[in-house]
Amino acid sequence: MVSEPTPGLQHSSTPTLLFSDYHTHPQGHRVQPYAQALLQPWIDSARRRGLSDIAFTDHDRYHAGIDFDEIDRLREKNVDLRIRAGIELDNDPTHSAAGRKWIEKHWNKLDFVLGSVHFLERADQMFDSVPDGAGQFAGRSIDTIYADYFRRVREIAATGLVDCLAHLDLVKIHGHRPKAGIETIAGETIDFVKSHNLAIELSTAGWRKPVNELYPSDEIIRLAMQKGIAFTTASDAHSYVQLGENFERLAEKMNSLGIREVCVYERHKRHTRDVMRNCE
Ligand SMILES: [Zn+2]
Ligand SMILES: [Zn+2]
Repeated sequence: MVSEPTPGLQHSSTPTLLFSDYHTHPQGHRVQPYAQALLQPWIDSARRRGLSDIAFTDHDRYHAGIDFDEIDRLREKNVDLRIRAGIELDNDPTHSAAGRKWIEKHWNKLDFVLGSVHFLERADQMFDSVPDGAGQFAGRSIDTIYADYFRRVREIAATGLVDCLAHLDLVKIHGHRPKAGIETIAGETIDFVKSHNLAIELSTAGWRKPVNELYPSDEIIRLAMQKGIAFTTASDAHSYVQLGENFERLAEKMNSLGIREVCVYERHKRHTRDVMRNCE
């Protein structure tokens, strides 16, 4: 005899319910000093989407806008959410030296630092700008560009200033694919991530870019899973409307890959949570 499905659960094909977004940009693409009027809409949006743990991770070039007192005030007003102070450290040849100094100075106030590579050989243009950045790939060996990209990822990881790597295979953004196998392309970097005890984010941002694929790829995720690397969940939202974007789809993907845990951070200390129950 077959028992009836539990009422209330039958509508959901996947039991996962994601609760954390660890890649967000309250300032967007310019300095907008942190204030309650800027930040509160992000918390309201998080609450509406069922998120209970979010990290602000503005680009390091806009560090002047980050205000820890404003984050504390926000926390006092919204005690039902975990609000993490974070930043995204770039390999920007112009600005990131100052960004690193700022992170070192404020390390103890930060919960979480993302490491990112947005620059290849050109110092004046992010390779991930759409569509112009695709020009940096034209007529060149894609395998060589991938090797150069992942070398730069290892450089960011080696700074000792990051907790987690953002959009690990961003180099695929315009749809360029290498000929070499995934072990050749990313194996050394995955080992490096493991040996430096860093996490990797699962970023839905890739689904709104030309490549239309999660960052990182399933193959890279499987390699990382074999090594026991922890994952965060992330949207890379540049507007509070994008917070938790495509998280239902991400939950299905994680379910199909067998990822049962996500990690969250408090003062750079990693805590593992069960995806389904938001508990340790
Ligand atoms: Zn980024
Ligand atoms: Zn970002």
